[in-house]
Amino acid sequence: MTKKLSGNEIRQTFIDFFVEHGHTAVPSMSLVPGGDATLLFTNSGMVQFKDVFLGTDKRPYKRAVDSQKCMRVAGKHNDLDDVGRDDTHHTFFEMLGNWSFGDYYKKEAIAWSWQLLTDVWGLPKAKLYATCFEDDQGHIPSDDEAADIWKEQPGFDPSHVLFFGRKENFWQMAETGPCGPCSEIHIDLGEERDNLRGTDHICGVNGQCTRYLELWNNVFIQYNLFDDGHLEPLPQKHVDTGMGFERIVSVLQGVDSNYKTDLFTGSLDVLRSLTGHSQEQMYADFTPYRVVCDHARAAAFLIADGVVPGNAGRNYITRMIIRRAARFGTKIGLREPFLAKVAEAVIEEYGSFYPELVKSRGAILDNLTREEIRFARTIESGTAQLENLLSELRASNQTTLNGRRAFDLYATYGLPFEISRDIAREHGLDVDEEGFKAAREEHSLASGGGKAMGKTGGEDAEFFAGILKDLQKHKKLGEHGVEYDPYTSPRLEGEVLALVTNGQSVESVSFGDQVQVMLPKTGFYIESGGQVDDTGYIRAERSASGDEAWEIEVTSMRRASAGVIVHVGEVISGQPKVGDLAVAEVDIRRRHDIMRNHTATHLLHAALHQVLGEHARQAGSLVAPDRLRFDFNHPEAMTPEQIERVEQIVNDAVAADMEVTPKLKAREDAIAEGAMALFGEKYGETVRTITIIDSEGLLSPAQKQASGLQTLAEAVVHPASVAEHQPKYSYELCGGTHLERTSDIGAFIIVSEGSAAAGVRRIEAVTGRGAYDLIAHRFKLLKRTAAIVKSSVEELPFKVESLQDEVADLKKELASLRTQQAMKMMESQFSSVQKVKDVNVLAMQVPNSDMDTLRMLADKFREKYPNNAIAVLASGTAVISALTNDIVSRGMKAGDLITAIGGRGGGRPNMAQGSLPDPAMVNDAMSEVVKVVEEKLI
Ligand code: ATP
Ligand code: MG
Repeated sequence: MTKKLSGNEIRQTFIDFFVEHGHTAVPSMSLVPGGDATLLFTNSGMVQFKDVFLGTDKRPYKRAVDSQKCMRVAGKHNDLDDVGRDDTHHTFFEMLGNWSFGDYYKKEAIAWSWQLLTDVWGLPKAKLYATCFEDDQGHIPSDDEAADIWKEQPGFDPSHVLFFGRKENFWQMAETGPCGPCSEIHIDLGEERDNLRGTDHICGVNGQCTRYLELWNNVFIQYNLFDDGHLEPLPQKHVDTGMGFERIVSVLQGVDSNYKTDLFTGSLDVLRSLTGHSQEQMYADFTPYRVVCDHARAAAFLIADGVVPGNAGRNYITRMIIRRAARFGTKIGLREPFLAKVAEAVIEEYGSFYPELVKSRGAILDNLTREEIRFARTIESGTAQLENLLSELRASNQTTLNGRRAFDLYATYGLPFEISRDIAREHGLDVDEEGFKAAREEHSLASGGGKAMGKTGGEDAEFFAGILKDLQKHKKLGEHGVEYDPYTSPRLEGEVLALVTNGQSVESVSFGDQVQVMLPKTGFYIESGGQVDDTGYIRAERSASGDEAWEIEVTSMRRASAGVIVHVGEVISGQPKVGDLAVAEVDIRRRHDIMRNHTATHLLHAALHQVLGEHARQAGSLVAPDRLRFDFNHPEAMTPEQIERVEQIVNDAVAADMEVTPKLKAREDAIAEGAMALFGEKYGETVRTITIIDSEGLLSPAQKQASGLQTLAEAVVHPASVAEHQPKYSYELCGGTHLERTSDIGAFIIVSEGSAAAGVRRIEAVTGRGAYDLIAHRFKLLKRTAAIVKSSVEELPFKVESLQDEVADLKKELASLRTQQAMKMMESQFSSVQKVKDVNVLAMQVPNSDMDTLRMLADKFREKYPNNAIAVLASGTAVISALTNDIVSRGMKAGDLITAIGGRGGGRPNMAQGSLPDPAMVNDAMSEVVKVVEEKLI
């Protein structure tokens, strides 16, 4: 092996190798096996071909090759206990496979495995072993056929065929049906890889230590197994193989762990940049690193396949592995959410082969971080509680924690069973898994088991109206229903009035439940005017009467029916009950980001009026925490100067630290005063206005006039506004939440300007922290680019310019070299000029030349042969023909010559250019030239 192949290259060589041998490359199926309810996750390459083996489905190919995404974390295949502790098992991994459906069989399969491993990849032949089947129960015939084929392989040591029984070397899909012997390929990694060195054991294939590694399993499906245990040969025999991708990569890259391959380099680098550990420190305590990398990768792939963290089934697994990764993260000192950063590295490494990762990037990062934040809020109380239980256990000389207790920890603190078990094991104790499962089963039955009852979505207005009526009857709510005040109350106390889950009004909910919560009053903003919903938390402290604390994460808001506002979210700890006293708190950091973007939107609107004119009115907007989007009427793209000016004007208004004041007004008055209202928007009698006062006198009198604010005429017509006369920088009708002063925006950066619809432009911009992140990111890029071209940031433009000049010079030089080369070739070809009748004919191909070069060569030719000469030159399918004038006077035309050899073209009689229709016919066409001249020339 000369150059080390990257993981991606290894996967590709596998696929290419089998494609060359007539296989069709097929994509991996999803981790969620479609139409197979018995299986939680796809756990081997075979799953997507199961029906073909059973004979109930057909494929358009008889040979296939793929790399299948697999998860082995639940059910019959559960490797979770090994993950992180060893270097060869993952929860998520890729299985490379080649498949024959009633086509080739053992002979080809074994020979190709051997060729790929030893010829293509260059593995040492003496280190490879093959296992074959020999029935330990003596019923099924031994697979001597496979053993003999192995022994025929060039360079294979015949003593390396080993026989094993049913457990290792016989495969069956189920109790009955297709089955057959398998043949596994193992590699001897050398004595130093024996992790039990010095203990009393014998190293060997399928042995106890890690010296021999199973790489590849070739299954030969040849029997049908019947109820009574008898076997019949299948009419169609199949080959099903699975090679652990990460394992073969580790072997080919010569490293002693899957995690030391380049597949994990990016993830580990991210982690080390966060922990500050050196490589040696990391290897010294490698388990947490391995677990985090493995789980982050698995979670990214799961979320990309739509399995987001949740409370049951597959979703529970995603939740569990994210939480487990987070806990192992704490072992290496990681407290802040960090998994999204690792996932970025995963997307980078795998995105080109698995584009679903790139497509779901947003969902992956978002779900990881949210789940980490949820878990961070409960992990300490959860583990403290568990530690107590474990101490009690030890005090009473017991070793296994009751499963029901473990389930309570899950229902209350979201502590997954697997984590409780990890912690118990760290204390030399265990947790009863069956008991946990039983308790979970009971609980899910008691809480309706996710059977969605009745109405959800927008059709439940009546249902909520009923709840409201009931609450009003019991004097829990007044006639207007839930009070709404997003302006002054980001934190409010109140009694839980109603809990709705699965379309049912319930008395209590518990961990993981999706719930809609009604409180008497809310400070959470409900999406309107482009500003998005607030998010945050509702929680209860532990009460005096001993009720446990609980917390609900609010992810969105709903006006479920007139007078009914509900907080939509998920229980992240404890068991909320109707009647509990709770505190609802808006995520204030996020809200501030939103407010910055909203106030900046008003400044942007004003700036657009100043730069483009009054027609640039708002046509739509989005005010989110991470960005603002503003659509406005304008017939053409803004020029770069206009964009810069708008950005500058807004930043000046930010720096002017202007006051932002909300006021309720009669609609008539506000509109008469020139407040900007949205066309087509309905407003009530009383409206909310947002005024930004031009305290620094940024607007010139003409601008004030132009923007229609506070004209003298209005002041006369509406004396009220004279009284509060203050120059307004911006004045809009708006229900959104705003900053008190513009300087809180920090900075405003336009990210893009483009078309939203005919006559409507769209600006996207960032402020505050978003602006800082963008600036920091751009600086980093600049610095990196400067470093690449070996310049300082200041000198970068000059450096790039000079590099471009250099490239242009080099291109010129290259062109002239090419021409010289072509000339040389031409000169050497002059010897092959043929005399046809009395004429000198040259038919020649000049590879890699453009038309100019061909033309120049043709001129050169005519210089050398000023009379009686014909040249046809071709480069690729481009062709040129040139005749001396005396030939033209003999009745021949340059264009006709091109047509006569099958091309198309035109030009002057003595020089024409054109092309041949097909690269494959160029040779023939060129050899036609002499014949054509012979025939046509008189
Ligand atoms: P092992 O005994 O090493 O767990 P296995 O017998 O369970 O392997 P198979 O079901 O035959 O493995 O799967 C085919 C190949 O997939 C194996 O040869 C191995 O290279 C790889 N493999 C199996 N399980 C894992 C895992 N958890 N992580 C990574 N690769 C695996
Ligand atoms: Mg296994």
